[in-house]
Parts: sequence; C-alpha cells; structure tokens
Amino acid sequence: MLDQDRVRADTPGCASGTDPGLVFLDSAGSSLPPQVVLDTTVNHLRREAEVGGYRAANERLADLAAVKTSIGTLINAAPTSIALSDSASRSWTDFFYSIPLAEGDRILISEADYASNAIAALQRARATGATVETIPSDGNGQLDLDALTALVDERVKVVSVLHAPTNGGLVNPAAEATRIAHSVGALVLLDACQSTGQLPIDVADLDVDALSATGRKWLRGPRGTGFLYVRPELAATMEPQRLDLHSAAWTGPDEYRLAPDAGRFEFWECDVAGRLGLGAAVDYLLELGPDNVYAAVAARAEHLRTRLPEIDGVTVRDLGVRRSGIVSFTVAGIDSIEVRDRLAAQDITVTVSHAGSTLLDMTWRGLTSVVRASPHYFVSFEELDRFVAAVAALR
Ligand SMILES: *Cc1c(COP(=O)(O)O)cnc(C)c1O
Repeated sequence: MLDQDRVRADTPGCASGTDPGLVFLDSAGSSLPPQVVLDTTVNHLRREAEVGGYRAANERLADLAAVKTSIGTLINAAPTSIALSDSASRSWTDFFYSIPLAEGDRILISEADYASNAIAALQRARATGATVETIPSDGNGQLDLDALTALVDERVKVVSVLHAPTNGGLVNPAAEATRIAHSVGALVLLDACQSTGQLPIDVADLDVDALSATGRKWLRGPRGTGFLYVRPELAATMEPQRLDLHSAAWTGPDEYRLAPDAGRFEFWECDVAGRLGLGAAVDYLLELGPDNVYAAVAARAEHLRTRLPEIDGVTVRDLGVRRSGIVSFTVAGIDSIEVRDRLAAQDITVTVSHAGSTLLDMTWRGLTSVVRASPHYFVSFEELDRFVAAVAALR
C-alpha cells in the first residue's frame, strides 16, 4: 500500500494553492513530477550556470551511471542494455531504423499502434520495398494472437507490439505475441511508453528484443527524456543508422569501432539535468514499489470505469481484458475538445486523444476522438469524484 499523504506531500502539483485544487488526470500525457525530480533537475541546471556544463557533469558521473542501473532494476535488465534518449519515439526509431530490411520483407504493426511508429514503418517500407501489415485485434480489442500466428512467416522481420495504447485502457498480451513472433525469427520491438511507470515491467519475462519508453508520462520524470532497452546480444552486434563519437570511436583513418553495448544507440550530447531527473524519478518509483504503484493506479482507473458510465450520455471506450490506468470516454452531444476545455476551466486536467494518434484503431471503431483521463497514484478518490461530478454537470 502506498502512503497517500506522503506521495501527495512529495508532489508540488498536489498543493497548487487554489481551492479546491487541481484535479490532475493526465499522467498518460505529461505527469506531475515529485519534488525530488524537480530539485535534482533544477539544482543541476544551477550548478551548470556556476561552473559550466562539463565540470558540472563530471561532478555527477557516478549518479549519471546510476541512472541506467536504476532503469535496469526497474525493467530487470543490465545497465549496459539501456540507451538513454530524449523521447520514446527517438528510442523506438533508433532501433527500428537500424533493422536491416529488404524488398519482400514484412513489418507487422499493432492495430492500436502509435502514429509515430506507423509513420516510421511506412517510410521504411517505401525506402526498402518491405511491406507493412496490421495485426488484427480480437473481440476484446487486444492483439489477436491467433491472427498473429496465422500471419507470421519467415519474411516477417520485425513485429511492433504496442503494450498499452495511448487512447484507451487495454494492456496487450506482449509476452505471448513475442513468443509467436520469435517462432519465425522476427524481432519484437515493444512500445512500452504507456506501461512503463504504471505496470511492473520485466524484459526477461516479456523476452522482447527492444523496448522504448518516455520519462515524462507515468514515470513522472522531466520532459525530453526517454530510454531504449536492447537485448544484450543485439546491442553488441547491431549497427545503428547514425553514429557519433560516443556511439563509436574513430580508430584509424578509415576505421571506427562501435561502442560495445547499447551505448551505441546514444549520442554524446544530452540534457544532463534531465537525465539526472529521470534517474531520480525511477529511484522514487523503485522506492514506492512498482507493484504498489500499479495497484493504486488500477484502483483509481477502475473507480472511474465504474462511476463514469452511471452518467447519462457518457460511454467509456476502453477495450481489453487486462487494463491500464488510461480511462477513455465520450460524452454524447459534446465534442471531446469542449469536454476537455470546460473541465480545464474548473482546474480539472484531462486530454483528448484524436484519431490521428491511433488511426487504425479509431477508424475501425468509428471514433474521431476520445477524452482521456489518466489518474496516477497521487490522485485522491475525492478528486476523482469531483471530476465525475463535473462530467455529470456538463450536459
Ligand atoms: C506518447 C506515446 C509515444 C511517444 O512518446 P514520446 O516520448 O512523445 O516520443 C509512443 N507510444 C505511445 C503509446 C504513446 O502514448
């Protein structure tokens, strides 16, 4: 169990000073960081201003190395299999663009895949002559494992598995999908952007070849941070599309040598303050316990999924059997943007997920947008009920 008073006291955004206070339901977009993340980041920026960025970074070398150790602990991976980056999309594309593809190869994406992943797949298909195909969803809205089994053959080179979609509350059976993809030798790239920080993640159990995540969402880290996990054998053998003097060493007039591990997917220059802040966010999560966090998030999301449908005209749009902390809904007769804006006027933060972010899934379901409420563990049940009452008062 989480100490609710403590996590709220640790969160500056929970004490906004206004009465009755902010109801923050956008941890799937960009969450409220805990004080320790804010302090770690701001203190490092201040130190850079005092002594310059290089000396400031040199003073924190051990802490910077510890960021990967902490992430490794969180997802059960070696620190050498982690590459830090500036976003989930950067991480995803760094890996994806480095997979060799040729004419006739097949790329499989998930029906609820994120637009950035789909766009990258389409671009590479155009450039290489590979094809992009979609894994259908089953009756529950999840990745259809039987359809995937029927779809795969040895020409499938990579399968993009979407762990938790951006526009709704389902969690896909990633480990099972990975087993099927591996049966034909395909690589599996897991988009864990909406699962990392709310669900416990174990890459050894999932057995994926690569995983991408962002800092600012459920991890409660700073913006402009993210990471890529790459299976150690691949991290030691894959050639990234782009290199610099950190990802490789210039060893002779005609030669370079790649970094021995996932560091080959990183560039030298980075937001050091942001990285230290990300490390602080992961350490804070580890201290709370990922299982406790998921239990608290799930309880809040389930509360909303129980209460919202009681309101006339409100339809919860979440699919799936296993659920995440994202609660998506529509209000009959009121556009999602208007719902968001009218709630914002009452200091209640939700976002809108448009069809363009998850085009295939939304088109298949006949939706143009949904309102997205994503309560993290620091949101109180009183705040959830204030939100529900505000939604009820919209019509
Ligand atoms: C937000 C999101 C991304 C992209 O993350 P960035 O850090 O903005 O690149 C990828 N996949 C899913 C499912 C997302 O919700």
